Amino acid sequence: MSDPINPPQDCQLCPRLADFRRQQQDKYPDWYNAPVHGFGALDAAVAIVGLAPGLKGANRTGRPFTGDFAGDLLFKMMLKHGWARGEYRARTDDGLVLDKARIINAVRCLPPQNKPNPDEIKNCRPFLARDLTQMKNIKVYFTLGQIAHHTLLDMLGLKRRDYPFRHHGEWQLDQGQMIISSYHCSRYNTQTGRLTEDMFDQIFCRINAIIDHP
Ligand code: SF4
Repeated sequence: MSDPINPPQDCQLCPRLADFRRQQQDKYPDWYNAPVHGFGALDAAVAIVGLAPGLKGANRTGRPFTGDFAGDLLFKMMLKHGWARGEYRARTDDGLVLDKARIINAVRCLPPQNKPNPDEIKNCRPFLARDLTQMKNIKVYFTLGQIAHHTLLDMLGLKRRDYPFRHHGEWQLDQGQMIISSYHCSRYNTQTGRLTEDMFDQIFCRINAIIDHP
């Protein structure tokens, strides 16, 4: 039976990404090298929208943000703020459970240089939409980086000029949910000081204030 939410493991909708996937399969046959599905409870209050799998992170392990620097920071924060239970050991069998959040990437396949092109983002958007539609208790959409933010806006039919991306942007939607935007927790952003751990931490505090005391 076909999966109602996720693309097939050999999805060919983006020829460039499918070709790049085949290259990684040849190069790293022991890696995951396939579209990466969402991770976290479907009844979670926070829907985290990321960009795309990282080469040595989700593309290697098969779980969003698992195995690279961005994940180290994201999962550290999620554990600190009570969104996750267990221990994060950068592997899919670490037993980590996400209760309050679910992570879905805007683009599910590894893009060269971490840069999906507009057609690829558009091709993958229905899978993001299907995943988010399954989440019936969303209180906050938490967007990591501009591409994820714009993809969510496009998916929700919202105008980008009305919700301009910035770090710690906050918008209330008519349907009751909020969008909170953040710089992506990438190694580049943290090493250049664009995003400090403290800045990221403050966003988690703010989101907890929203979901615990709406
Ligand atoms: S990015 Fe999405 S739409 Fe494109 S090939 Fe991968 S799974 Fe399919």
